[in-house]
Amino acid sequence: MTQDRPDHYPFRDIETKWQRVWEETGLFRVGEEPGRPKFYCLEMFPYPSGRIHMGHVRNYAIGDAVTRYKRMRGFNVLHPMGWDAFGLPAENAAIENGVHPAVWTYENIATMKAQMKTLGISYDWDREVATCDPEYYRWEQLIFVRMFERGLAYRKSARVNWCPGCQTVLANEQVEAGRCWRCDSEVVTREIDGWYFKITAYAEELLEWCDRLVGWPERVLTMQRNWIGKSEGAEFDLPIAGRPDLAIRVFTTRPDTSFGMTYAVLAPEHPLVDQLVTDPAEREAVAGFRAEVGRETEIERLATDRPKHGLRLRARALNPFNGAEVPLFIADYVLMGYGTGAIMAVPGEDQRDWDFAKAYGLPIIETVRRPPGWTGEAYTGDGVKVNSGFLDGLTVAEAKRRAIDWLVARGLGEGKVNYRLRDWGISRQRYWGAPIPIVYCPKCGTVPERPERLPVVLPQDVQITGKGGSPIADVPAFVNTTCPRCGGPARRETDTMDTFVDSAWYFLRFCSPRHAGGLADPEAVHYWMPVDQYTGGIEHAILHLLYARFYTKVLRDLGYFKIDEPFQRLFTQGMVIKDGAKMSKSKGNVVSPDDFIATYGADTGRVFELFMAPPEKDLEWSDQGVEGAFRFLNRVWRLFQANRPALAERGIPVGELSAPGRAFRRTVHETIQRVTADLEDFHFNTAISALHELVNSMQTFATESLDRAAATERASLLTEAVDTLVRLLAPFAPHLAEELWAQLGHRDSVFRAAWPEPDPAALEREAVQVVVQVDGRVRTRLNVPPGIAEERLRREALADEKVRPWLASREVARVVVVPDRLVNIVTRGARSPA
Ligand SMILES: [Zn+2]
Ligand SMILES: [Zn+2]
Repeated sequence: MTQDRPDHYPFRDIETKWQRVWEETGLFRVGEEPGRPKFYCLEMFPYPSGRIHMGHVRNYAIGDAVTRYKRMRGFNVLHPMGWDAFGLPAENAAIENGVHPAVWTYENIATMKAQMKTLGISYDWDREVATCDPEYYRWEQLIFVRMFERGLAYRKSARVNWCPGCQTVLANEQVEAGRCWRCDSEVVTREIDGWYFKITAYAEELLEWCDRLVGWPERVLTMQRNWIGKSEGAEFDLPIAGRPDLAIRVFTTRPDTSFGMTYAVLAPEHPLVDQLVTDPAEREAVAGFRAEVGRETEIERLATDRPKHGLRLRARALNPFNGAEVPLFIADYVLMGYGTGAIMAVPGEDQRDWDFAKAYGLPIIETVRRPPGWTGEAYTGDGVKVNSGFLDGLTVAEAKRRAIDWLVARGLGEGKVNYRLRDWGISRQRYWGAPIPIVYCPKCGTVPERPERLPVVLPQDVQITGKGGSPIADVPAFVNTTCPRCGGPARRETDTMDTFVDSAWYFLRFCSPRHAGGLADPEAVHYWMPVDQYTGGIEHAILHLLYARFYTKVLRDLGYFKIDEPFQRLFTQGMVIKDGAKMSKSKGNVVSPDDFIATYGADTGRVFELFMAPPEKDLEWSDQGVEGAFRFLNRVWRLFQANRPALAERGIPVGELSAPGRAFRRTVHETIQRVTADLEDFHFNTAISALHELVNSMQTFATESLDRAAATERASLLTEAVDTLVRLLAPFAPHLAEELWAQLGHRDSVFRAAWPEPDPAALEREAVQVVVQVDGRVRTRLNVPPGIAEERLRREALADEKVRPWLASREVARVVVVPDRLVNIVTRGARSPA
């Protein structure tokens, strides 16, 4: 163990000592201080899955560096931590090992909290919350009731994503490429009753605000915009030939292409299909086709790159624009949940229609003139309308407007906006979650729980079998209750809430975590919110971040807080990779912080993770990299100890500095500039390399042999340099910096010290050397102030006494000036005799 080697700094003693001092002095406990600038720094809180590993540490190291830096810049920094404590793994552990989910969860919380403490992350632990605590979820039950009253929470039966592995429903956001986001099982669909949050009512606002979240990565905003999927177009009716009682409502984003409709398509599950099909043989064919499609997932049906299947119906549709009769199909690539569940097909300008038309031998009509040399298939670009009756000659945009006007004028249709976003299904048929506060009364129907009867506490005494269905349905003491309205016997809802509801507002609870009068104290919320810096993984780009934005807006509209958006700035860090895969327990490639800290200390881990890659990029675990970070901190320690006698002379005033002294001091102050700018921009890796360079310069400067007078100057400059280095190092290696700060004689924490400011006088370069050439040959060198004006430099060069003789018999043709570097005088040969 390196700890026993005398050539390494005593990191274990240092880290233990300062963690204790920080806790005892409450260094990171904060409260509202109106008038003082605040900074709310938050890392996505973890699921208490067992133990943390060094892959998790990256997120915390980033948040901690920002927190400590902002403190030193004078901000009142809120940096809380808690636990996203409900969820399936606890339940699965119960099934496998027979341990109660609550016991498993709280044991894991204790372990992970102890691990975080050994990392010395600057959390205000007084604010810790766990979402499985009834004192936490009672408030989201209250919000559920309020949302129910406003129609923002509602129950419906729908075809939903069902994960056979987790035995529960998944929201669309929780299905990735047809698989469960958590367990990777293939997702199937099922018709099931459940509760929904009406996130679609906020689609437009969620989309609009994407343009105002300037502190967010563009990549995340693009993913959110695409997920919301706004499309503008028209909705209108297609009459059915010979059936004046029936019409098909279609939605299209391209009403300008209506004259190119060569067929129409209904989703196989469209209710109109049963009315259109009357013949028994056709009925049978439709039933067979529906069964086939039922085996495909929604993802497969929406995939653009796979063959599309359809069944032609006997009924035919009419194009209202030109009266043409076109064939009518049911096909898998049209879904009931999107638009109206029916489309006019325009293969000339839609690739999926084009593919289908080709496969089924249907005509293709072009309604936009192709650019010269066009050889592609469907054309979706701009151009002039053709084959389109009264739209001919217009641009696509003009034709869209004209087509909608035409529909409206005839009462056939209207302009319409559609969103891809679906309402958020929040029912889970599992145990370990917050109960949905709804009661079913035989007399009163579906009744929300009365606020004074909240929380509806999750019963502890349950049999968890994993057989599917909610285990609390088998707990009579829970299920049988009284109706909040009439007092008669009634039954409780036994679904629990999606854990993404728990994490949609935890950042608000952190503002006043013990507040008993509501979900958070509005004064505290209005002081701390929004979160100034949020850090977490890109995997939450849609799920958690969209839900949290939605929930914040709902709370605003329910009158709780005047907050539009929860997160001012967002940073998504890259993954930690080891042996070619993301570091994770399931991959078996984790590095335990316990072993790591025993061998190298927490500061080395932080410096390694912040230094080895830009924080947004993936970080490859490397033992050499770890050794490098460890060596660097040891160098800082040795440099400090070797110069302690000189540092004792701190404060000795120095007059005019020598040239090497000036150069050294400039390096120190340039480093302040660089590290400060890098921290502001999250360039932690280059900030740490600037510190490496500073340490190199200090080492060189400290070991040059000098006379007595110069030695005094050196001591003074080294004192300033060490003082600066310690403060610049503090966000990255807080324990070591705190120890050195104390050894410098400071009584208070380095985190109460001010961040260093560069001295403009030190940054000034006093002179630069400019080479003067005559016809390409160096004739002299000028020492001039940096940034000197070109005209002045030219004048000084021409007037210089070493230059003038070379110009005596020549005419100057031109003078080339490279600022701060070079003056080249070009002559025209010997001057002609006067
Ligand atoms: Zn699953
Ligand atoms: Zn009742």
